Order: sequence, then structure tokens, then C-alpha cells
Amino acid sequence: MRHTKVKDLLNSTTTLQEINAKGWVRTFRNNQFIALNDGSTINNIQCVVDFENTPDETLKRITTGAAVSVTGTLAESKGAGQKYEIQVTKLEILGDSDAEKFPMQPKKHSLEFLRENAHLRVRTNAFGAIMRVRSVLSYAVHSYFQQKGFVYVNTPIITGADAEGAGEMFQVTSLPLDNLPKNEEGNIDYKKDFFGKHTNLTVSGQLEGETFAMALGQIYTFGPTFRAENSNTSRHLAEFWMIEPEVAFNDLNDNMDLAEDFIRYVIKYVLEKCPDDLKFLEGRLLEEEKSKPQAERSEMALLEKLNFVLENNFKRVSYTEAIDILRDSTPNKKKKFQYIINEWGADLQSEHERYLVEKHFKSPVILFDYPANIKAFYMRLNEDGKTVRAMDILFPGIGEIVGGSQREERFDVLVEKMKALGIDEEELWWYLDTRRFGSAVHSGFGLGFERLVLFVTGMTNIRDVIAFPRTPQNAEF
Ligand code: ATP
Ligand code: MG
Ligand code: MG
Ligand code: MG
Repeated sequence: MRHTKVKDLLNSTTTLQEINAKGWVRTFRNNQFIALNDGSTINNIQCVVDFENTPDETLKRITTGAAVSVTGTLAESKGAGQKYEIQVTKLEILGDSDAEKFPMQPKKHSLEFLRENAHLRVRTNAFGAIMRVRSVLSYAVHSYFQQKGFVYVNTPIITGADAEGAGEMFQVTSLPLDNLPKNEEGNIDYKKDFFGKHTNLTVSGQLEGETFAMALGQIYTFGPTFRAENSNTSRHLAEFWMIEPEVAFNDLNDNMDLAEDFIRYVIKYVLEKCPDDLKFLEGRLLEEEKSKPQAERSEMALLEKLNFVLENNFKRVSYTEAIDILRDSTPNKKKKFQYIINEWGADLQSEHERYLVEKHFKSPVILFDYPANIKAFYMRLNEDGKTVRAMDILFPGIGEIVGGSQREERFDVLVEKMKALGIDEEELWWYLDTRRFGSAVHSGFGLGFERLVLFVTGMTNIRDVIAFPRTPQNAEF
């Protein structure tokens, strides 16, 4: 018999005869009430088992985690908090689950424990909700750009280009590890390990994306990116998904407008499509907050925080203004930030970013016009000769969520910059062609998808918003 999704049963407008549902048992109470979940919604449907007419053998097999099929009528429920329940006439165990051994018993598990069981944690309410929200957010990303006429481009995953110049690349080799090509000194020659060339996993699709923007006008990429960072922070993964729009004839201000509009759109979208999941996640967070000291509790509940982003423009502040603010601030009674930022030109650390957002402006912030020497080679030099048209968007609880810029469109200036940084012109000949033939002002940004999911779900560790996190600790499966 064709089964109906639990979500549709719970949203039904009438009682129904002869329906079938399939899913996994969350709990089984009093030998009578199954809380059944099939992943279509955070909510379980209560299934009332006719225990007097069900063999003991079968009842014993209704354990947490077991897959079952229930057939019966959708009837009004007398129980509190639920409109409908299934009065079961036929119950079938599809797959047993040994309750003694099943790790996902309904109790509070630590997030660390759940990370070690990434293949099963999705069976918990919280992870089910996070993964549904993540899925809807991905759809919202495409929906936004497609509506605006952007072309979706799949930039390569294996590439010779290091867009960021940060040296965080995973090398790709086509050869057996014990047979890598050697140079004259007898050391491994990584320049030749991929069919005679050198390649790595992409850290960003931007450079390739730019070449497409200079023909198609507005493009976006949305795919996996890799960074060999052994940083072990709560916001870095070795494999993460990045959204990278690139637009010809857009300057830095247009770029900021695009990023803000985009973020609002996807948040609005998910608020509309995932009310139950977000409400559940908000409740989970409120519980967590209770265990914290008053001073550390967040001032806004999750939905309020998301609505705040919809209703308030991000504060746009230059790097130089931000440094002045940080220099004058006293984040705690004893120390000023001066001890870290004592001169203009330093890169901001996440504690500075979060101070600006959470304490000073109490709003998402767009910082722009960064010192040229702390940003990548491709950014447009300002007329002052020392800052570039870069922007970072900083969010509460996270810090940097977006990094973007107007790109250096002037061939000579770009080549000079590359020379100064020791970037090989020959290797990027194809990139430089965008500046040789029909160059124009253009800009774009990269938004780390997991950081967006972190913000929307209120989770605090990036390992908890991706199905199988890749970090120095979690890469086994
Ligand atoms: P951070 O300062 O946090 O290390 P970044 O400046 O190195 O980030 P960019 O090169 O600007 O990052 O990449 C664009 C966006 O990609 C970032 O704003 C962030 O949202 C995301 N991002 C970068 N590195 C990671 C990572 N290791 N894991 C998850 N997301 C990342
Ligand atoms: Mg980084
Ligand atoms: Mg950064
Ligand atoms: Mg950045």
C-alpha cells in the first residue's frame, strides 16, 4: 500500500480511512503509543496500537529505531498538542532495532558523541531539523539567483589556481604515492604530480567564475571548496560549500547591496518554509541558554534574531573606522584591544569581529576598504594606494560570513601586484585574458554556506551543520 508522509497526515483537514504510514519508532509508551517519525517533519505522529489483538512477539519488536509500517485510520486525537493520530489496524515490523545497542535512544546526547555518530545523528530531532533547514536554504540560494537571471556555473574542483594565495590547498596526485616524480635533488616534484602538471583541490571558484562573468554578465557558483586548515575552530572545515556570485559592471557598493539582499531573501525563505523546524531549534537553544550564566546569555531568541536581519540594514563601516572603534574600546575591565591591534594594517581576529557586531553595533556589519597587504591579489586598489575595495560581512556569534571585493580590472596594476607577491603571470595567463580583452569593473563575494546554516539554526559549531564534517578529527567516514 502506498504510504502517506507524516507531514501530510498531520496537516490533513479531515479524518481519513485506510491510510498507511512508514517510518521509524522514536518511542513506544505503555505498550500502546508509538511516536512515529519519517523525516518529513520534526513532528511525530502518534500511532495507537491495538495491543490486545497484537501478539506479544510483535509488541516486543516495537523498539526505538525500528522501521515500521502502520495501516489504519487517521482519527482525531484526544491527546494534548496533536490534532490527529493513527488508530492502527495493521502493524508490520520492517526492520528491527536492537534497543540495547541502538546509540540514538531518546535522551540528551552530547554534540561530541553525536559527531562520532554522524551517520546516525540525523535520527535525532535536532539534526533532522538542521538538515531540512539546510536543504531548504540550498534551494533558496538557487531560487534567488535564478529569479535574478544569474547563470549557475560549475567551476572545477581540481584546478591549478590558488585563488586566495593562502597556501591552504590539498594537493591532487594522479600517481601512486611511492612513485611521485623527483627533481634533480631527489625531492618530490609536486609541480608534476598530476599527469605532469601540478593541481590541487579548489579553495574558491572565483577566478574561474570571473572569466564566465565577463561573458555571461552575472553568474554564481555553489559547490564544495577545500582548505587544508588544521585550525580546529568552531567555524572552519576542511571541506565546505561556498556560494560565489560574480557580476560584471558592479562596483563594491552594488556588491554590498547584492549580498545584503541575498542574505535577507534566503532567511525570509527559510522562515516561511521551515516554521516548525526553526521553532524546535529555538526551543532547544532556549534550554541551552538556561544553563549559562546570565551575562553570557544571548539577548535575542532565534526567530527574533532572524527577523532582526530582515528588518535592519547591515552597518557599513570602513576598516579604518573599525580600528578606531576597537582601539578605544575596553571589551573587558582589564584589557583593551590595543594589546593586539596596535597599528593600522593588522588583520582582524574573530574576537574583534564579534566585538564590533555583538557589543558595539549590535547588528550585522559590513567592513570595507581593508589594507591591501592583508587581502588577496585580485582586489581593486583604491585611489589612496594602500586600501582595496574589499568587504567582509560579519555576523553575531560567527564573525566573518562573507568575504568579497570589487576586482582589479586594470591589467597593468594587477600584473604589478602579482609580481610584488611573486605570483607567476604565466600560470594565470588565462585569468589575465579577462583583463586583456574587454576588461570592466566587476565584483563578487564568497559566502560560506555552513556559516549561513550556523546562523540560521543557532548552532555554534560548524561541524553540526554539515552531514559529514571534514576536520582533522572527523574524516573517517
Ligand atoms: P576566515 O577568516 O574565517 O578564515 P577567510 O577570510 O579565510 O575566512 P575567504 O577566503 O574570504 O575566507 O572565503 C569566503 C567565505 O568562505 C568566508 O567568509 C567564510 O564564510 C567561508 N569560509 C572560509 N574558510 C572556511 C572554512 N575553512 N570552513 C567553512 N567556511 C569557510
Ligand atoms: Mg581563512
Ligand atoms: Mg577572513
Ligand atoms: Mg575572507
